[in-house]
Amino acid sequence: MDKTKIIITREEIAKRIAELAAELSRDYKDKNPILIGVLKGSFVFLSDLVRAMNIPVEVDFIRVSSYGACKETSGKIKLVQGLKIPIKGRHVLVVEDIVDGGLTVSFLLDYVKHRRPVSIKLCALFDKPSRRKVEVPIDYIGFTIPDAFVVGYGLDCNEKYRYLPDLCILEE
Ligand code: 5GP
Repeated sequence: MDKTKIIITREEIAKRIAELAAELSRDYKDKNPILIGVLKGSFVFLSDLVRAMNIPVEVDFIRVSSYGACKETSGKIKLVQGLKIPIKGRHVLVVEDIVDGGLTVSFLLDYVKHRRPVSIKLCALFDKPSRRKVEVPIDYIGFTIPDAFVVGYGLDCNEKYRYLPDLCILEE
């Protein structure tokens, strides 16, 4: 097993999520938003986020695949599971674990836009802007992080490490 080094602790993550949740609860008050979690990586973030918010929300999931072996992206994004709840006329917040090159999010925003919600915004817990290939508007950002492959807090490498409560760098 590779060694992992903590770069953002569970306490820091919890504190930042409480701030994001307060901001979202203000911005979406009386809007009954649908939060769309991007599987699998965002399952931990989304579950902490909705429980820290103090307004009613609905939740759905979408699943895409793009990664090959761990750190290598195939560059091709495939929709594996689409939305189950109709979103036409609703306020939608896409909840993503991490934005790297930006291709996944840009594909997802297109998919969501076609279903004609009243508004679409994007919330990403981690952002690696130095790796961007296509520009994407991120409305709510948890942490901006350096260009390193990270695991934990839902993020994996070949399905390992998702359970780690802190954000870690994989040391070779
Ligand atoms: P993008 O399309 O923005 O390049 O990649 C987004 C997706 O790639 C994320 O949803 C995530 O699944 C994966 N990804 C990007 N960077 C990392 C990383 O540092 N660690 C892990 N575990 N996954 C990443």
